[in-house]
Amino acid sequence: MNAESAVAEVAEDRWGLSRLFLVRNSYWLNFWLTLAYAVSGKMALMMAIPPGYSTPVFPPAGIALAAILLAGNRALPGIFFGSFVLNLWTSVSPLHTSTIVSAFILAAGIGTGALLQAFVANFVVKKYAKYPSPLIQSGEILKFLFWGGPVACLVNATWATTVLWMAHLISREIYNFTWWNWWVGDTMGVLVITPILFAFFALPKALWRKRRISIVIPLGVTIFLNSIVFFHADAWEQKSVRLEFERTADTLATQIRKSFEGYLDSLYALESVVTITDAKDRRAFEVAAERWYTMYPGIYAFAWIPRVMSADRKSFEANYRFNRDPNFHIQEMGPDGKLVKAAVREVYYPSTFVAPYQQDVTILGFDLATSPERNRAMLQARDSGKIAVTSPVKLIQNVADRFAIMAFLPLYHGDHSSVGTRRKNLFGFVNVVLRMGDVIEASTKSRIPMDLKLAVSNELFPSGQIYYSGLTPAAEAEFAKTDHLASPAMRAWNTRLALADRQYWLSVIPSHDYWIKQRDEGPWLILAAGLVTSGLLVAFLLAITGNSFAIERELAERKRMSDQLKRNSEELSSSNAELEQFAYVASHDLQEPLRVISIYIELLRKRMGGSLDSDAETFMTYVVDGAGRMRELIRDLLEYSRVGRTGAVTSQVEVKSVVDHVVRDLTISIAESKAEIIVSELPKLTIVTLEWVQLFQNLITNALKYRDKSRSPSIRITCEKKDGNWIFSVHDNGIGIAKEFTDRIFLVFQRLHGKSEFQGTGIGLAICKKIVEKMGGRIWVESQLGVGSIFRFSVPVEAVS
Ligand code: ADP
Repeated sequence: MNAESAVAEVAEDRWGLSRLFLVRNSYWLNFWLTLAYAVSGKMALMMAIPPGYSTPVFPPAGIALAAILLAGNRALPGIFFGSFVLNLWTSVSPLHTSTIVSAFILAAGIGTGALLQAFVANFVVKKYAKYPSPLIQSGEILKFLFWGGPVACLVNATWATTVLWMAHLISREIYNFTWWNWWVGDTMGVLVITPILFAFFALPKALWRKRRISIVIPLGVTIFLNSIVFFHADAWEQKSVRLEFERTADTLATQIRKSFEGYLDSLYALESVVTITDAKDRRAFEVAAERWYTMYPGIYAFAWIPRVMSADRKSFEANYRFNRDPNFHIQEMGPDGKLVKAAVREVYYPSTFVAPYQQDVTILGFDLATSPERNRAMLQARDSGKIAVTSPVKLIQNVADRFAIMAFLPLYHGDHSSVGTRRKNLFGFVNVVLRMGDVIEASTKSRIPMDLKLAVSNELFPSGQIYYSGLTPAAEAEFAKTDHLASPAMRAWNTRLALADRQYWLSVIPSHDYWIKQRDEGPWLILAAGLVTSGLLVAFLLAITGNSFAIERELAERKRMSDQLKRNSEELSSSNAELEQFAYVASHDLQEPLRVISIYIELLRKRMGGSLDSDAETFMTYVVDGAGRMRELIRDLLEYSRVGRTGAVTSQVEVKSVVDHVVRDLTISIAESKAEIIVSELPKLTIVTLEWVQLFQNLITNALKYRDKSRSPSIRITCEKKDGNWIFSVHDNGIGIAKEFTDRIFLVFQRLHGKSEFQGTGIGLAICKKIVEKMGGRIWVESQLGVGSIFRFSVPVEAVS
């Protein structure tokens, strides 16, 4: 499209409307709108990173604004359904809502927000940004982007975040975070997507088509760069949060390891007591144990477990009864889950010296070898000569629902340097029961952030059983709800936990909230910076393209005007030339028949001399006069039309000599009228002499002719140089000219007096005017009736030098 038709279209004043108006069918319009909204939104959300599901650009917001501005209120259903479909689609994922009904309610809630936002945007952009406007001036562009972007987007950020919060889908802590992300995404969507859509759909086409490439490409690049920077910053930030998390987790693990080691040390202390007393002093054992279990809350109990051979059972039981418990005997777990007297076996490992005593009265005498896991650990300890621990086991006492582990330290009589001697010389075990949860909690007390979960599981991790989990059931539910573990940066941190001969896994798992709280402002600020730069870039691009369009429009307008002017002046000069040609030809050709008329009338008069009556004589005189006058007129007209016709040659002439020449020619009339003629100093100019003779002849003749009868004429010719012009003046003291006629007298055939008063044709001054104007000057008169006139004419200095 060329500039001219652009102007035409602009003139139609359809700013900001759209070809969307041409889509007659509202159903189709809304169908496409819904589709575009939902699909672009889904794509943007797919790029989003958990947690917070922030996306740096949310295109549907821009689509909605463009739709409401370009297609009007009838686009509202499409915006609502677009948002509705998008949110339904998104909440189908396990993250958000569980039931279909709540998914529908949620989607409708957020859709209403989108509708509201479009409505408000439409209102404020029209009211405060004075839209529709062509978006050419930077002021109107900035206003448009400001009201349509950051301002209007406050609506759904607030509305939707509140809806999510009320639906318990986000917690109070991350309300602000979600709000911010929503607002930034929407605003960016408006800033970058709305101008792109305008480039394709808005009117005038000439303006927006031009903007397509110059806006779409830079904006595409901006979105791309923005996204890259954002994702990088986010990845970097997640990494640093991850590092911090791992550091915390590692500290916790070290703490727990050390703590377990400390607990196991207690076994060596009791080993000494048993050895020194030869396991005969229950009291000494209890006193030594008490120090430990009062200091370390994770210790549930200590026990001394001697090896009792079948042959020694009777004396062992008797001895123990005598010492402490009259009902004492070696026990085992009966089929109904109650402790019963142990069956006859080759060897027994009964719990004796249980400390603290009160709690464990029931366990006294229980043969630990009857429990496979305990037995396994004891045999392991016996053969290795080192501490061995069980897998987490339920306590026989069943006092807590928590898991406990048991550690056994073997004691020998005499040599225990080989497996053989160790098996032979085993004396018994010092045993400690540790409650895992208490150990972990005591050692990490106040060091586990509320929203971290600690779990201990066996070596079959992660499919193995979890023995300990540091969360309340409610917190567990919260953990299970979030899908934050989908992000690699938020996976659980696992480490091996070696306890004596056993391997466990310690897992530290961050919760969603933990993650949110750890995040800092880095990516936020980057998002904000991206927002500001994008906004400015868009404004800049619009302003530049708008400006070039305006300039083009202006140029087209000017060109149109100058073309018109040129055409006019061409027409004028051609019609002038025609006119001149006509005047010349006419006056030239008329002369001949006129001369014939005059001659033959004169002849007729002579022949008929005397035979005519007086009336006829008078008529004849009129005819002769008329013909003569007509000849005069035609002669003067011919002279007038001749001015400038011939390619007259210029030469350097003293103007004074021109004037002198004229005065000489007029000697008789000057003498008759007793006129005085004063000529002051005149310059030397490059002129067409003949024309200047004509000029001065006409002016001086007039000065003589239109003299006041009461005084003799005084004529003064002067010259001055003023503002780059020579100004010549012919002053007289004649009859003067009334003010109202001072312009008319310069026109052809314009006379102020009748022929009887003053002879003349009314062409003299017209000839003067033509001569002066041909040189680029002008002629005028200053006069006072009854006092005199000054005829002045100017010629540009450079035209005559
Ligand atoms: P003409 O003298 O043949 O009538 P001009 O064109 O020379 O035609 O003058 C036009 C008219 O201007 C004259 O008829 C006269 O009325 C007026 N005029 C010209 N020169 C003077 C003058 N010096 N003083 C008064 N009137 C003048």
